[in-house]
Amino acid sequence: MGHYRCPRCGSTDSYVGNVMLAKPSGYISHELGDTGAMGTVPTPGGQRLVQARKCKSCGELLGDSNYEKTAAELAQEQQEKARKAKKLDETVSTAGGLLFLGVICIIVMAFGAILTALLMEGCKRR
Ligand SMILES: [Zn+2]
Repeated sequence: MGHYRCPRCGSTDSYVGNVMLAKPSGYISHELGDTGAMGTVPTPGGQRLVQARKCKSCGELLGDSNYEKTAAELAQEQQEKARKAKKLDETVSTAGGLLFLGVICIIVMAFGAILTALLMEGCKRR
C-alpha cells in the first residue's frame, strides 16, 4: 500500500473517519390525511454521515489524487503496461503474418494461372 499525502500540510498520516456533509433539502409528496389528495411538503435540509479519508494532522479531506503509490505498486503498473503493449504487438504481427500469407497465396495462384495459360498455348501450337 502506498500512502495519502495531505495537499495542505504535506503529512502522510491519514485515517478514515466519519464526515458530516450537508444534505440538500428537497420535497416529499404524501397523501393529505384520508382525502386522497397529494400534497408536497419541503423536507428540512439536514446532514448525512459519510466515510472519508482525512489528514491526521490538519483534518483535510483526501481523495484519490492525493494517493501516492509505492515503488512496488509503480513497478507492477509498469509491468502491466509492458504486458499490454507486448500483447498488442503480437496481435499486430499475427495480422501482418496473415496478410503476408494472403499475398503469397495470390502470387502463387497468379503464377499458376500464367503457367496454365502458357502450357495451353504450347499445346495449341503443336
Ligand atoms: Zn494535513
